[in-house]
Amino acid sequence: MSHFETGIIDPLYLRENGFLPSEERQRKGPVAVIECIQEIPCNPCVGACQFDAIHMEGINGIPHVDFAKCTGCMSCLKVCPGLAIFIQDRSRATPSVIVPYEYLPLPTKGGTVTLLGRDGAVLGTGTVRFVLAADKVSKSSLVSVEFDDPALCEQVRNIRVG
Ligand code: SF4
Ligand code: SF4
Repeated sequence: MSHFETGIIDPLYLRENGFLPSEERQRKGPVAVIECIQEIPCNPCVGACQFDAIHMEGINGIPHVDFAKCTGCMSCLKVCPGLAIFIQDRSRATPSVIVPYEYLPLPTKGGTVTLLGRDGAVLGTGTVRFVLAADKVSKSSLVSVEFDDPALCEQVRNIRVG
């Protein structure tokens, strides 16, 4: 069954179609991963990027990140209404992912949260590095969560508090 039927994107599809950065790139610093593969009329992520790192062909195009240009600045996450952008970072001793988060209560820095995959499956637990609450610029709150296993960077796409 395809991801258009299940609603769950296959990571193999993302890898094979250039939506995921290489391990080498991830080790250089934070980098955005955009998992927005449907042709919908939406493009605020493109305009939000000051580094010209997001490319899309027309308003209905599919956004692609130029991983060499991306600085991991989070500007695209803040404006994405689809909760489709994540920041992976394997450059620090402890790997981490920043995920958009729309529930309350927000987690607290230093707290333990449950890590969830694209299909909602529990992947383990992580520690909250920081929380940026939603504001006029950021449509959703952003939560950075760190964990021990670097392989989880490509898998963690949501969290559960508690
Ligand atoms: S994280 Fe920043 S630099 Fe990277 S694609 Fe998003 S807006 Fe551009
Ligand atoms: S802003 Fe979000 S939902 Fe809209 S095109 Fe960009 S990644 Fe997709």
